[in-house]
Amino acid sequence: MRRFLYCIPFLLICCTDSPELENWYKGNLHTHTFWSDGDAPPEIAVAWYKDRDYDFLALSDHNILSVGEKWIKVLDEDPGEWPPSMTKAKLDEVRDRFGEDWPLTRMVEDTLEMALLTLDKLKQFFEEPGKFLMIQAEEITDRYNQNPIHVNATNLLEFIPPQGGASTHDVLQRNIDAVNKQREETGQSMIAHVNHPNFGWGVVAEDLIELHGDIFFEVYNGHPGVQNWGDNAHPGTDRMWDIILAMRLHQGLDPLFGLAVDDTHGYYKHKVGKSNPGRGWVMVKAQTLNANNIIASLEEGNFYSTTGVILENVQIDDRALTILIREEVNTVYRTQFIGTPKQFDTSSKPVLNSMGEPAHITRVYSNEIGQVFMETINNPAVFYFTGAEMYVRAKIISDQLQENPFAEGDLETAWTQPVLIK
Ligand SMILES: [Zn+2]
Ligand SMILES: [Zn+2]
Repeated sequence: MRRFLYCIPFLLICCTDSPELENWYKGNLHTHTFWSDGDAPPEIAVAWYKDRDYDFLALSDHNILSVGEKWIKVLDEDPGEWPPSMTKAKLDEVRDRFGEDWPLTRMVEDTLEMALLTLDKLKQFFEEPGKFLMIQAEEITDRYNQNPIHVNATNLLEFIPPQGGASTHDVLQRNIDAVNKQREETGQSMIAHVNHPNFGWGVVAEDLIELHGDIFFEVYNGHPGVQNWGDNAHPGTDRMWDIILAMRLHQGLDPLFGLAVDDTHGYYKHKVGKSNPGRGWVMVKAQTLNANNIIASLEEGNFYSTTGVILENVQIDDRALTILIREEVNTVYRTQFIGTPKQFDTSSKPVLNSMGEPAHITRVYSNEIGQVFMETINNPAVFYFTGAEMYVRAKIISDQLQENPFAEGDLETAWTQPVLIK
């Protein structure tokens, strides 16, 4: 069963306060390679992250684990089609980095082929105790009618095929149930998380409000197609998060935590409009670096999500939420304490989604949900609870533009997890 430490009476709380001896571990939970539709062999992907001091990485290809035998063609030139191709130039790069004998290749008739490295092989080469950890994952890639519905399973043991279902909500629920079933049957700690809700406007807040057994969604995904910030007809992920939190907590359900991930597909051309590594990640507080600790801390909300803002600490006691920011020179940090009061207008109005999916309706909610209780440029940024809040979360926005962002003009930002106030 999942572990929740939130809701300590009287004022407070969720989750986070932890012994000072714990460490922050940097990781990306959503990454693609040639095992599905990434444009690089897995060793190039893993090396990108390890070279940049990530502590852990989950390879999460679409409907496949990095196991068994898979050969891909090595072409003279990249035809520029989807899915991306392996080329001789990319093979040269692999050999430059890892040695002439590194990639296993063969000729099939006139075509050069290369074997993809399995996760086991990648672990043998890249993992270092306390320094770099690889976690098995899969992006369970499903749909309902035209709605793409993707759910990551992290630290799973066995492949999970897409489960299908009778509605968007049902498809989500069945895939999450499949992850939890495997967890119960195997005893292995693993989590499901809902990917990029606004991709194809596939998932609306209402689909997540009623969801059971899942406590994570992507508040930030670096893929340029995922519409993190919404549009005139669709709320952005920050607004969705508050709607989901307010309505779930109002019904006595579990809170939802927000993850930042790369969803990397492109390792070679780095620019806005490509789905590149390095855009969004989580910082997880744990005693030591192993998959069980990372999963447990994620489930306890003992982490924050970021696109560049680094926090020294997130402290919660029975009076206040305190955010200590690691300051870069000449940078101003605006911290918003966002939440919903215990007494709020729970009504909502239906609005037909502008894409015209007939069965797929998003609703409009009161602005009492997700209001900014307080904003400050102080560091530490401190919010004192009044007891009227149902939950409070912090969003820390730097005045520095993010390098190679999801969208032009994005500022470096961090999101802490909601603190529930009893
Ligand atoms: Zn996806
Ligand atoms: Zn993905």
